[in-house]
Amino acid sequence: MNVRVLELIDGSSGSRIELEGNRLPVTHTKDVIHVLDSGSLSPAVRDHRESNRAAERPRHAGQPGTAEPVSRQAWPGSGTALVGWPSAGYRVGMAERASAGAADAVIIGAGPNGLVAANVLADAGWQVVVCEQQPEPGGGVRSGRGPAAGFIYDHCSAFYPLTAASGVLQSLELERYGLRWSQAEHVLAHPLPDGRAAVLSRDVEQTASALEALGAGDGAAWRRLYALWQQTGPQLLDALFVPFPPVRSGVRLAAKLRGPGMLRFARFALLPVRRLIQEEFTGPGALLLAGCAMHADLMPESTASSIFGWLLTMLGHQYGWPVAEGGSGQITLALLRRLTGQGGTVRCGDAVRQVVVRRGRAVAVRTASGEQITARRAVLAAVAAPRLYGELVSWDHLPSRLREDMRRFEWDHATFKVDWALREPVPWRSPAVAGAGTVHIAGGLDEMTEYSAQIATGRVPEHPVVLTGQMTTADPSRSPAGTESLWGYTHVPQRVRGDAGGELTGGWNEKEREVFADRIEAQIGRFAPGWQELIIGRRITAPGQFEASDASMVGGALNGGTSAVHQQLMFRPTPGLGRPETPIAGLYLASSSAHPGGGVHGACGANAARAALSAARARLQRVAAAGVRSAIGR
Ligand SMILES: Cc1cc2nc3c(=O)[nH]c(=O)nc-3n(C[C@H](O)[C@H](O)[C@H](O)COP(=O)(O)OP(=O)(O)OC[C@H]3O[C@@H](n4cnc5c(N)ncnc54)[C@H](O)[C@@H]3O)c2cc1C
Repeated sequence: MNVRVLELIDGSSGSRIELEGNRLPVTHTKDVIHVLDSGSLSPAVRDHRESNRAAERPRHAGQPGTAEPVSRQAWPGSGTALVGWPSAGYRVGMAERASAGAADAVIIGAGPNGLVAANVLADAGWQVVVCEQQPEPGGGVRSGRGPAAGFIYDHCSAFYPLTAASGVLQSLELERYGLRWSQAEHVLAHPLPDGRAAVLSRDVEQTASALEALGAGDGAAWRRLYALWQQTGPQLLDALFVPFPPVRSGVRLAAKLRGPGMLRFARFALLPVRRLIQEEFTGPGALLLAGCAMHADLMPESTASSIFGWLLTMLGHQYGWPVAEGGSGQITLALLRRLTGQGGTVRCGDAVRQVVVRRGRAVAVRTASGEQITARRAVLAAVAAPRLYGELVSWDHLPSRLREDMRRFEWDHATFKVDWALREPVPWRSPAVAGAGTVHIAGGLDEMTEYSAQIATGRVPEHPVVLTGQMTTADPSRSPAGTESLWGYTHVPQRVRGDAGGELTGGWNEKEREVFADRIEAQIGRFAPGWQELIIGRRITAPGQFEASDASMVGGALNGGTSAVHQQLMFRPTPGLGRPETPIAGLYLASSSAHPGGGVHGACGANAARAALSAARARLQRVAAAGVRSAIGR
């Protein structure tokens, strides 16, 4: 296989990098990204690139009601199709270059965790190579053109409160590498069936007053939740983002709360969000909390769903829910610029097939093209845990107990997403929703429970709970003035056994994808009648298509494994492995399958990188690996 290098050189040298049609100055003259020559891509990938371009045909080119077919994202079946930047991507000069051969660290996967890990190691002076299976880097942080001309969509992640709150991402100063943030007027809205809406603003008082208008006493309840955040937020974030157990930040948190306060906080954290709402609120404004809890794969009745809802809403007050100006791929681009400026290398289009283990230590990786890259100090696997254990590392090298535990590993739900290009913004019945970046769509708490129960029992939901993003509202550069770039995603079962709506099998062929996308549209239509007439293009991403574009998103899972409490903290991804170290010396789990889990915070990557650095300093890899072995059992 022909590995080639894309050299990204600044404007004065004649080359440049282009993303989403914008010419972006490259700050470092030695930025190097390896990709396979497009001539070496599989026919399916090439076809998909073409179909991505074809997908930018208009739906309703004329006035409302003009019946042209919906512009579709045609996927060449399962397998090697890719999503991301194919229609924009890098356009740069090409030059042959010898293979990487060896590096201090090899990082598998150029998603946000892999790229953060690479940056942390490169900052420490390590020579790093990142190996990425897809033709473009970014994993869950990619954007592209579509689904109509002049529109930009985010392939997966879009809103970044966790990024804003993450200490490691703050320390990388990505703004110095071209990243700019943008915020909607309001953080979040939840339209209600009676035409009103619950709205989360950056401003606490504004939010509390709005909630008071929806339920007597709810303004005071919201202020109490915010007071708790003020008391505990910084310590909690510190504790969340470091490897488990968070000794120093845990002690600081305990000191803040003291004895009985700690017990009450622990109870609060473990509450199902339905119970929290029953205890504290009288009106429907508390749906803001329940909707945020449903960003994880939790039911409103799940243990600890309250803390997810509380954390995301409070981050909304403290940081907002920012988006990357110009598309989420700009975050990846900034990470790449920073990394390559430090001498790091990213090779795209060549999957790692094996981590080579010798005498209990990870010493190299072998790629699909047959190349072996020696890892002098460490291998960091920023891929889902089931992709690492038993696939990249043979079970022969791993304790049998780990194999037994991984048999119990639970994926989070599958994801089904639609991106729309709208001729005008969504005509919400409640005008308050218009200024919100994120909009949660669900008819009420009971509907959320029914939706969750249908997924839990293997049925495609009849009334999907939809998380939607009004991206042009949040970032005017996403589509032409006066239009809206909108997306919505919902969850479906990993294994479909039926359809609560009575039509689907879960085979997700083209017809099923269209039917379910129509169901999602109808659900939004309950709160914005007639909005479908504004659609000029739509692009559907079904569960298998997420996995085809990112092998870590197995079955369309977006969090690297369930967020349920039995697979969090010291249970993530299996009991005893709440840290990035693995039973193999010099091998670290750096993806969202590691604590603290899903979301673009980079903590999983940073924790793995720091573990590798400190082990290399202390030459303690074998001791650490032995410790992990004894923690999980033989
Ligand atoms: C639809 C959707 C919406 C989301 N919305 C948000 C949001 O708004 N905010 C937020 O914070 N988070 C969001 N997330 C979650 C977020 O995207 C993920 O938690 C995050 O991307 C995980 O980062 P990661 O680096 O661990 O893995 P990934 O981003 O999945 O990256 C893994 C990388 O490894 C590569 N890879 C896999 N196997 C191999 C191999 N063998 N060899 C080489 N490379 C390999 C993959 O191609 C991929 O590039 C969303 C996710 C989805 C799917």
